[in-house]
Amino acid sequence: MVHEFDAVIVGAGGAGLYAALEASKTAKTAVISKLYPQRSHTGAAQGGIGAALGNVEEDSPEWHAFDTVKGGDYLVDQNAAKILAEDAVRAVYDLENRGLPFSRLDDGKIAQRRFGGHTHHFGEGAVHRSCYAADRTGHMILQTLYQQCVKSDVQFFDEYQVVDVLFDGTTVRGIVVFELKTGELHVFQSKAVLFATGGFGRMFKITSNAHANTGDGPAILARAGIPLEDMEFFQFHPTGIKGMGILITEGVRGEGGILKNRDGERFMERYAPTLLDLAPRDMVSRAIMTEIADGKGINGDRKIDDYVYLDASHLGREVVEEKIPDIADFCRTYLGVDPAEEPMPVQPTAHYAMGGIPTDVDGRVDTGKQVYDGLYAAGEAACVSVHGANRLGTNSLVDLIVYGRRAGMHIAEYVRNTPAKTANAGDADRARERLDTFRNRTGGRHVGPIMEKMQEVMMEKVGVYRTQEQMDAAVAEIRTLRQEFKEVTVQDTGDGFNAEMLQILELENLLDLSLVTAASAANRTESRGAHAREDFPDRDDTRWLKHTLASLDGDGVTIDYKPVDVSIWEPKPRKY
Ligand SMILES: Cc1cc2nc3c(=O)[nH]c(=O)nc-3n(C[C@H](O)[C@H](O)[C@H](O)COP(=O)(O)OP(=O)(O)OC[C@H]3O[C@@H](n4cnc5c(N)ncnc54)[C@H](O)[C@@H]3O)c2cc1C
Repeated sequence: MVHEFDAVIVGAGGAGLYAALEASKTAKTAVISKLYPQRSHTGAAQGGIGAALGNVEEDSPEWHAFDTVKGGDYLVDQNAAKILAEDAVRAVYDLENRGLPFSRLDDGKIAQRRFGGHTHHFGEGAVHRSCYAADRTGHMILQTLYQQCVKSDVQFFDEYQVVDVLFDGTTVRGIVVFELKTGELHVFQSKAVLFATGGFGRMFKITSNAHANTGDGPAILARAGIPLEDMEFFQFHPTGIKGMGILITEGVRGEGGILKNRDGERFMERYAPTLLDLAPRDMVSRAIMTEIADGKGINGDRKIDDYVYLDASHLGREVVEEKIPDIADFCRTYLGVDPAEEPMPVQPTAHYAMGGIPTDVDGRVDTGKQVYDGLYAAGEAACVSVHGANRLGTNSLVDLIVYGRRAGMHIAEYVRNTPAKTANAGDADRARERLDTFRNRTGGRHVGPIMEKMQEVMMEKVGVYRTQEQMDAAVAEIRTLRQEFKEVTVQDTGDGFNAEMLQILELENLLDLSLVTAASAANRTESRGAHAREDFPDRDDTRWLKHTLASLDGDGVTIDYKPVDVSIWEPKPRKY
């Protein structure tokens, strides 16, 4: 079946929904989502959305932009960060006006709390900048935007999984989609296509990410020949629930929670004397792994799976139940620990992809050398780049709203002056052949073991601390797994609700992105932000103040570079 639209948005998280809202002002707009929109990972965001409203104390967008640049270890494109911080204020009031129920101060203004790396006066101390709705901020954003999209006549195709993208040269003309309910392939012909497919934390064994976070958008575009930017920078959030990876928001530390080692010591005093537990995530994760390596984890066995404590018990039951109710529930359910009484066992968990599809500040896919007409990306799948080598907490939700909106606005304008594209049912042939090969193979391998092995390799060899030897081994092992993948067979040969088929496609995406991530990491011989190398412990601005652009090339990865915009602040050593 062929559908005709002006704009097709792939993904119904915060970025996709906001883009759809703007695009639909002039364009006939469809949102394609493999999940029901409200199940998108945006709904899991807990801690808040950062904006310099200054409701609790003095604040300014300039400080916010500076913190973003410094937090990203100066790999951030500075003009993009400036836009982010300045527009964040409007974005938060816009969400408020659309009905988002923010937590409030006594005077009725939007409440704000402290978050890692967010400071006043360019680093003097932590500032209250994160706007929140208890610990359900993302849930509220998603509900608010979904309602608005329905009101704006955006057409939703839920449980439709995009499997291929169609081009005329470098101009996009549509996508190919698998309908979960029937197994049918649909062609969507469109003047503009935006990928807002979210993150890909599922390439790691311990992750805060939902099962659906498999990086489908970046992988589909990488296979179409588009390079991916800064894939070596993957953020490990310091406080995942031990052994499970489920996130405990940084908001807990923003409210006054403290990290402690086995001696009960507040060890962050030694690593970040000014910001302490509210230092940026890359630093806190490294501090935890260093404590563990020094035998100061709770078990004291120096093993990689040891953990530390996050203590919020001194905050009292009232604060815990009011400010972090969901976290308290998670801890009671999964750990049998009541955070109002006892410390929570935590360890770093794979959390956020700083890298992704390269875009300009209007969401257009742009490698610096090539712009792809009609093709857009936004949200975690994209790399603008506002997060550089390490994202600050609360800045992803801002990114969705600010850059999702900008992409949507550009699309609304672009489709006005662009003639309709053509596509036909035959455009699904390539995707159909691919699906048929999984059906027609006999006696092959299955998804599970390959997925598990990939997640272990990435966790152990491309984790918080890295070495050349480990990363080279990861590249080799992922290559082997990609060969094994060619023998994967689907056991469920039915058409209706064939979730196994979708899993196979998702595994392929994760394998391709794992290869690009490991190869990009092995290539960068310095330490910067989340990319921390034991063999190259220092940042090297002379050689490495540049973005990586990595192209998937059969079994290999070709690396190119793009300059960083450092037009506002000169790169300096990072101290907190
Ligand atoms: C537990 C957790 C807590 C977080 N807390 C915060 C926070 O407090 N503050 C903050 O700033 N950030 C936070 N983050 C990060 C932030 O929530 C995410 O980066 C952000 O929500 C991603 O939004 P998105 O719109 O890019 O994608 P998502 O919300 O992940 O949505 C992706 C969409 O793409 C669709 N999709 C994917 N693949 C396909 C396909 N092949 N075909 C069709 N559709 C597809 C999915 O159905 C989904 O609708 C948190 C993340 C996690 C995991």
